[in-house]
Amino acid sequence: MENRHSTRGTARVPRVSFVSLGCPKALVDSERIITRLRAEGYELARSHAGADLAVVNTCGFLDSAQAESLAAIGQALNENGKVIVTGCMGAEPEKITARYPGVLAITGPQQYESVVAAVHRALPPRHDPFVDLLPPEGIKLTPRHYAYLKISEGCNNRCSFCIIPKLRGDLVSRPAADVLREAERLIAAGVKELLVISQDTSAYGIDLKYAPSAWKGGEVRAKFLDLARALGELGAWVRLHYVYPYPHVDEVIPLMAEGKVLPYLDVPFQHAAPAVLRRMKRPAAQEKTLQRIARWRDICPDLTIRSTFIVGFPGESEEDFRRLLDWLDEAELDRVGCFRYEPVAGALANELAAAVPDAVKEERWHRFMGRQQAISAGRLRRRVGTRQQVIIDQVHGSGGKSDPVGAGTTVAKGRTRGDAPQIDGVVHVASRRPLRRGEIATVRIERADEYDLHGTVVGF
Ligand code: SF4
Repeated sequence: MENRHSTRGTARVPRVSFVSLGCPKALVDSERIITRLRAEGYELARSHAGADLAVVNTCGFLDSAQAESLAAIGQALNENGKVIVTGCMGAEPEKITARYPGVLAITGPQQYESVVAAVHRALPPRHDPFVDLLPPEGIKLTPRHYAYLKISEGCNNRCSFCIIPKLRGDLVSRPAADVLREAERLIAAGVKELLVISQDTSAYGIDLKYAPSAWKGGEVRAKFLDLARALGELGAWVRLHYVYPYPHVDEVIPLMAEGKVLPYLDVPFQHAAPAVLRRMKRPAAQEKTLQRIARWRDICPDLTIRSTFIVGFPGESEEDFRRLLDWLDEAELDRVGCFRYEPVAGALANELAAAVPDAVKEERWHRFMGRQQAISAGRLRRRVGTRQQVIIDQVHGSGGKSDPVGAGTTVAKGRTRGDAPQIDGVVHVASRRPLRRGEIATVRIERADEYDLHGTVVGF
C-alpha cells in the first residue's frame, strides 16, 4: 500500500505512542484522547522507540496497579524520553515526580483537554486535512464488534476500600440522548454489542434529577431503566456492568426476560457478612439479596449473574468468612472474581479494624475459589444440550484433512449472551459454514469444561 504521508510534503506526521492501563473506564478515556489526537493529525506509533512522544494512561486503584503504572512510565522514559502521564495516578502527581522528575506533564483522570494541551506543547500538531479524516465512531481500542459505552463519571458511594470518588469526584451522568447518539453511531459503524459501564451504573441520572433529553421526536429520562430500555431498542446486544445492588435494579430484569437487554448482571456484591459489609459501607442486607436473586431468576431464568468479592478485608473473622462461603452456596452465582484485600493508600478501610495477615488472606482466597469454581462449573454444565446465541470474537480458520475437527470445518471462539469479553468464559465453536468476526450464530452446546463451553453451529 502507498505510504500516504511520504508523498505529502516534507514535514513528518507527529507520532505518539500510547499505553492504556487499568479498567474499561480508563480504556474509554484512552479512546477519547486518541480519537482527539488522531482528529488533529497525530499518528499512533506501535512502540515508544518509534514515537516522538509517549502518553501513559495510568491506574491508581490498588497499590499493585500503581506499581504497574510507575513501571510503565519508567519504560516509556527509557525507550522514548518524552513522556506525558494521565489517568487515576495523575491525581497524586507527587508520587510520579518523586520517582520520575523528568516527565513532561501530569494530568488527572478525565482531563482530556489537559492531556491534549500537554501533547500540543510538547509536540505541536501538523495540520493536514487528509490525515484529519476520522471515522464517525472515533478510534476504538476494542475489536470492531463490541464497544464500551460510558454513561457517567465519578461515584456518590463511599465504599471504605475505594478511593475512586476521591480521584474522580461525585457522580456526573451524561444526558440520555447523548449516550444514545453515541450508541447509534457505534452500531452504525458495525458494533454488535454495547458494554455499558460507569463506576455505578444503577445510580445513573441521580445527579441530573433524571432530566429528560430529546430523542427521536420524544424524550428519554436520564434514568437507569429508561436508558436501558432505549438502548435495548437500538438492535445491538446491551450488557450492563457495575450495577450497585439498589432495589430499583429489580425493574430491569423484565427487560432482560423480554430480550431487550442481555440477561446478564454484573453486580459487585463484595461480601456477605453484615459486619464486613457495614465496614465496607456497602448495603448489608444479604438475606434479602438472596431473595432478590431468586426472584430475578424466577422472572428471567436465563439470567447470568457475575460478581466480585474481597476476602481478607480488615476485621474479617473466620466466622464472617464462613458466612460468605455459605452465602455463595445459596446464591449460586454464575461467574465470580475474588480479590485479596490490598490496603489502598488513602482508603478509610485501613483504619477501621485490624488487618488480616497475608497468609490468612491467601488461605481464604483458595478456599473461596475452590468453593466457587465448583458452583460456576455446575451452572455452566446446565447449558449443555441447550442452543445458545453466540457472538463470534475470533475465527481460527478451517481444519485440514488431518485435522480432528474435520476438513472444511471452521473453528472459532465466541461468547454467549451470558459472557462478557475479557472477564468471562468463551464458547469454542465448530461450524461447517465459514464464520465472520462479530457474527451471531446459534450454537448447540455439547460440553462444558471448568470455565468454557464447546459446541457446533446449527443456525444463524
Ligand atoms: S461503588 Fe464503591 S467501589 Fe465502586 S466506585 Fe463507588 S465507591 Fe468505589
